[in-house]
Amino acid sequence: MKKLLKQCVISAANQFGPHRFAGLERDPQLWLLMYHRILPKDDIRYRLEEPGMIVTPDTFAMHLRELKLHFDVMDLAEWLALRASGKALPRRACAITFDDGWYDNYEFALPIIQQQQVPVTLFAVVEKIGTDFQFWPNLVSALLASNAIAAMRQHPVFARALQQVPAAADSPNREIIDRECMAAVILALKQNSDADVFAALAAIEWQQHLNFALPRGLMNWDELRAMTGTGLVKVGSHTCNHKRLNNHLPSAEILHEVVDSKTLLAQQLPNAVDIFCFPNGDYNAVALDAVSNTYSAAVTTQRGIVNGRNTPAHQLCRIGLHENVSHSPRLLGARLSGWV
Ligand SMILES: [Zn+2]
Repeated sequence: MKKLLKQCVISAANQFGPHRFAGLERDPQLWLLMYHRILPKDDIRYRLEEPGMIVTPDTFAMHLRELKLHFDVMDLAEWLALRASGKALPRRACAITFDDGWYDNYEFALPIIQQQQVPVTLFAVVEKIGTDFQFWPNLVSALLASNAIAAMRQHPVFARALQQVPAAADSPNREIIDRECMAAVILALKQNSDADVFAALAAIEWQQHLNFALPRGLMNWDELRAMTGTGLVKVGSHTCNHKRLNNHLPSAEILHEVVDSKTLLAQQLPNAVDIFCFPNGDYNAVALDAVSNTYSAAVTTQRGIVNGRNTPAHQLCRIGLHENVSHSPRLLGARLSGWV
C-alpha cells in the first residue's frame, strides 16, 4: 500500500510539477542541477562510491535529452549575467553543475556533453587537481571494501562511527560492500572535522589495510583544459582542499580556501568563472562573508529551485541527481518537480 502510494506521488510529481507548468504569473525559475560522478555500473569506482554521488553514462545522456524538452538549458554564468543586467530571464531555465573535478567526468561525461551540445559548470578542488588526492569518504569506502573493520576500530573516531552503524560489521567477508551501509558510516564520520578524519586514517595507516589499488580520483589540469577547450565547460572554484567551511575550521583557513582558490584557479585557467561551490554545502558566517566578497555567485547543496527574483546569488540552491532517484524519465521528472 505504502509502495503504491509512493508510485502515485512520483507519477503526479512528474506530470504536474512546476517543471512542466510554470504559470505566467510566476517568477522566472532556474533548475540548478548537481552532479558528482558519471560511472558505469561495472566499473570498480561505482562499487566504491556512495549511491548519492553517481549516475551512469546512459542515465546522464537520458537526462540531457529530457532536460532539453522541459527547459532552456543555459550556462550558469550566462544566466547570472542576464539576471544581474535586469533583462528578462527564461521562465524555466536549467543549468548543470559538476562538483569536485572527478576524472570520470572527463572520461564519461565529456563525450555525452559534446554529443548533446549542452553547457555545464564544473567546480574544481584547486590544490588537488592533478594530484593523487583521495577524498576521505573514498578511503573509508576502500577500507570497508577491504574488510578492514578490525583495524578501523582501533581508532576512536572510526569506532564511534561504526558503533552508530552496526550493519557495517555484519558480513565480514563480503566481496561487494553494502553501499547504503558505507554511506551511513561516512555520514556518521561527518560529525568529525575533515582534519580529524584524515588524522585517524593516517594513525591506522590506511595504506596497509587495502587489498586493491585505489582507482584514480581527480582530473589533471590538461584534462580540465581539454574540457574547457570544447567551449561547453566552464570551471569555478570548489576551494583549495575541499575542507568544509564550518566552525571546525579556523577563519584563516576558511579565507585561504575561499580567496586563494580563486587566484590559483585563474593562474591555471584564465577563463575560469567567478562562481564558488561550498564543499558539502557547509558554510558559517565567516565563509559566507568571504565568498560574498570574493565571487559574484555561489552554489550550495540546499535542495530547491532557484527563484530568479529572490534567491540570493551566494546561496543558490540545487537539485542533486543520482542514479536511484533519476534512472527513468518518470523518476527524473518527479525529482525535478522539487516535491519528492
Ligand atoms: Zn565536493
